[in-house]
Amino acid sequence: MSHPTDANCIFCKIVAGQIPCFKLLEDDHTIAFMDINPVNPGHALAVAKGHWPTVDVIPPDVLAAVAKTAQRIAQAVMAELRPAGVNLVQANGAGAGQSVPHLHIHIMPRRSGDGVALNWEPRPGDKAEIEAIYKRLKAAL
Ligand code: AMP
Ligand code: ZN
Repeated sequence: MSHPTDANCIFCKIVAGQIPCFKLLEDDHTIAFMDINPVNPGHALAVAKGHWPTVDVIPPDVLAAVAKTAQRIAQAVMAELRPAGVNLVQANGAGAGQSVPHLHIHIMPRRSGDGVALNWEPRPGDKAEIEAIYKRLKAAL
């Protein structure tokens, strides 16, 4: 199956078999492998085979395939490793912490007290501001 590629992209090189990975599974649109810098044991990545950097540009059916692969990996992680919890994390852009601009979902097992900075305390927002932004987004849909 043909898909866009970027010769300088590390995940495209993994998809092409040019650099090794601990491959968990592969289908037409996706590949899943272990993260080389695991936040916790079992940290894995579900990755689109094609080079689409972010969620706004990837075809929706490919995004759905990546989500399906992430679910399969999460099921295996939960059944086999029994972590305290699992976060699925997907970053878009450097400001969101994305270091590899090739769409992927982290399957991130959590241990209690692991100090991973993903969780936050909910604080009530300003209703007028929420409504103003809601109106802008609704108009953009
Ligand atoms: P992000 O920062 O959300 O773009 O995530 C990119 C992830 O890719 C990081 O967690 C890296 O540890 C991981 N990574 C980078 N290079 C490799 C590689 N060669 N094999 C496996 N994981 C990698
Ligand atoms: Zn790529």
